[in-house]
Amino acid sequence: MTVKKLRKQSDSSDSGTEDFSDSTGPEGFRFVDISILASVFQSFWCPACRYGHVVLEEDKEKKMGFASLLVVRCKSHKCSYEKEFYTSETVVNGKAFEANRRAVLAARIIGIGHQGLVKFSMVMNMMPPMNKIPTRTMLEKLYSQRKVLPSKACKMQSRN
Ligand SMILES: [Zn+2]
Repeated sequence: MTVKKLRKQSDSSDSGTEDFSDSTGPEGFRFVDISILASVFQSFWCPACRYGHVVLEEDKEKKMGFASLLVVRCKSHKCSYEKEFYTSETVVNGKAFEANRRAVLAARIIGIGHQGLVKFSMVMNMMPPMNKIPTRTMLEKLYSQRKVLPSKACKMQSRN
């Protein structure tokens, strides 16, 4: 069983992210080796000038927990094409990234806490998670805003 999508925000542009979801295309999260993705992007032509290739870069200063800010940029010196996007959609009125909320929920359910998430990230060669895990009160507020909450997860969470 999978946990369905968290509440989608219609005003996601407020946070600088765009809605890349397509109901007929793939959805959800994947483990992606960013170097493989970057090598694929190198073969694409710039959509603006159509003669330069694009590169995929990561702005590590602007990462938000498990949500990374990726930048597609044209390599041509004559072109200024640049497209930024976060690797996660936002939830909770655009104030939080779905990737982080799911990570917190998963950590709570399996009982690993913040340090567990940090170790998981290190072993997976991922950027580190958010700095702290929200308190129970914050989590309860989050859960109350969700459209779909797996009943099993609710029961497990209430015991913590
Ligand atoms: Zn270009």
